[in-house]
Amino acid sequence: MTKIRTRIAPSPTGFLHLGTARTALYSWAYARHFGGQFVLRIEDTDVARSSQDSVDQILQSMHWLGLHYDEGPIYQMQRLDRYQAVIDQMLAAGTAYRCYCSPQDLEAMKAAQEERGEKRLYDRTWRPAPGKVLPPIPEGVRPVIRFANPVDGVVSWDDLVKGPISISNTEIDDLIILRADGVPTYNFAVVVDDWDMAISHVFRGDEHINNTPWQINIYRALGAVLPQFGHLPVILGDDGQKLSKRRGAVAVSSYDQAGYLPEAMNNYLARLGWSHGDDEIFSLEEMVHWFDGTHLSKSPAQWDAAKLLWVNAQHLKAMPDDALARRLQPFVKDLQTDARLPEICALFKDRCDTLVALATWVQAVYGEVQPQSQDLEQHLQPAVRPALDVLEARLREAEWTPAAIAAVFKQVLTETGLKMPQLAMPVRVLVMGTAQTPSVERVLHLCGREKVLVRLGRR
Ligand code: GLU
Repeated sequence: MTKIRTRIAPSPTGFLHLGTARTALYSWAYARHFGGQFVLRIEDTDVARSSQDSVDQILQSMHWLGLHYDEGPIYQMQRLDRYQAVIDQMLAAGTAYRCYCSPQDLEAMKAAQEERGEKRLYDRTWRPAPGKVLPPIPEGVRPVIRFANPVDGVVSWDDLVKGPISISNTEIDDLIILRADGVPTYNFAVVVDDWDMAISHVFRGDEHINNTPWQINIYRALGAVLPQFGHLPVILGDDGQKLSKRRGAVAVSSYDQAGYLPEAMNNYLARLGWSHGDDEIFSLEEMVHWFDGTHLSKSPAQWDAAKLLWVNAQHLKAMPDDALARRLQPFVKDLQTDARLPEICALFKDRCDTLVALATWVQAVYGEVQPQSQDLEQHLQPAVRPALDVLEARLREAEWTPAAIAAVFKQVLTETGLKMPQLAMPVRVLVMGTAQTPSVERVLHLCGREKVLVRLGRR
C-alpha cells in the first residue's frame, strides 16, 4: 500500500482562513488515521501579495489548532531551480513550449474570440507541430512557457468527495506554467511539489476542481504517479453566500482572540462537511480514530456561529479546571491571580461559552466590580439594609468556609424573616457586580473575606 502523505498548501496572502483550516484539519487527520505524514507548504509564488507576516500568522494558527506537520514549511520560492529543471525537461520532451505573445496579442485574440462568441482560449500560435512554421521570434521578448495540453480526449478522476468527474480537453487551453520572470504558476508548481513530496492524497477546496484537469495532464506529461483528489465543498455564511471577510470573522486567529478553544474549533470544523454518526462533541483523538475519508459531504456546509459557540461551551465545561486555568492566562494577564484560579473556573465555567466570558468572572474576583445603578436600586431595598448590616457583621466573625457562610445567611434570614433571594441578590450585586451568580456562599468564599467586606460596605 502507498504511504499516506497529505499536505496543506496555503498562500501567504493573509491570515489562515477557516476554509483552509478545515482542509488542513481533514488532511492532517487523514494522515494521522493511516499513520502517514502531513506536510506544510507555503505557496508564495504570488510575490507581490505574499508576506512573511502572513506566513507567521498561518504558522501560529496551525500551532494553535494543534495541527502539527511532519515536514515543512516548504517555500515554493526556494524551489525555483527545481521548477526550471522540470521545465527544461518538458521543453526537451515537447510537452512544453515557449510562447512570445505580447499582452496586446492576447488582448486582440480575446477580443476576436468574444466577437465570434467563442470561449476564451489561447489559440496555440506558438505551439510547435510537425510541418508548422512558427512566427519569427520577436526581438527582446522574454517568452513564457506554456504546457502543451492534449488537444482532445477527456480528463477523468474519481474524486474522494465528489465522485467521478470528467472534463473535456477541448474546454481547456495551453496554460502558462512559467512566467517570463522564471516564477512558476500555481498549476505547475503544485504538481511538481506534490510529486516531489510524494503526496498521496490532495484535499482542497472545490474552487480548484477546474484546475485539476490541467494538473492531471501535467502529471501524465511528467510520467508521475497521480495522487487522489478530494475537493471539499465551500463553506457558506449565515446568508447562504460564500463565507468571506465581509460577512464576519473568517480568520482562525480571531477565534483564538475571542476566547474559543482550539478543541472546539477543530470539533466544529470537523463537522462542517464530515460526520461520524450523530456525534457532535468529540476530541481530536476521536476524530483521528474515525476519519478515514468516508462520510465527507458533497454539498456546501453552512457556517453557524451559534453552534460553534455551543460546541465551545461544551468543551469548556468538559475541560479539567487546572487546564482551563492555564488556557485562561492570556485573558487575565493583567490580574494578579493565585491558586484559587482553577476553583474559580470550576464555579463559573458552566455559565460561560468562551474564555473571554470566563475571564469576566475572574476579573470580578481579582479586579474590581462596578455594580449598575439600576441593579442596586432594584435589589438594595430599604427593607434589606438592616439585614445587610447584620450579615456584614457576622461575616466578619464567621469561619471562612462555604458551609459556615451558608449558615450565616440562614441565621440572618431566620432573624429578619426575609427570603433568601431578598438577601442574596443585593449581596451578589455588591460583591460580583451582577445578580446572576452561582451559589452565593461559594462565590463569597472564593472572593475572600477581605474583598467581600469591602464590597458589602459600599452601600
Ligand atoms: N495555494 C492554493 C490555495 O491556497 C493551494 C491549493 C491546493 O491545495 O492545491 O488555494
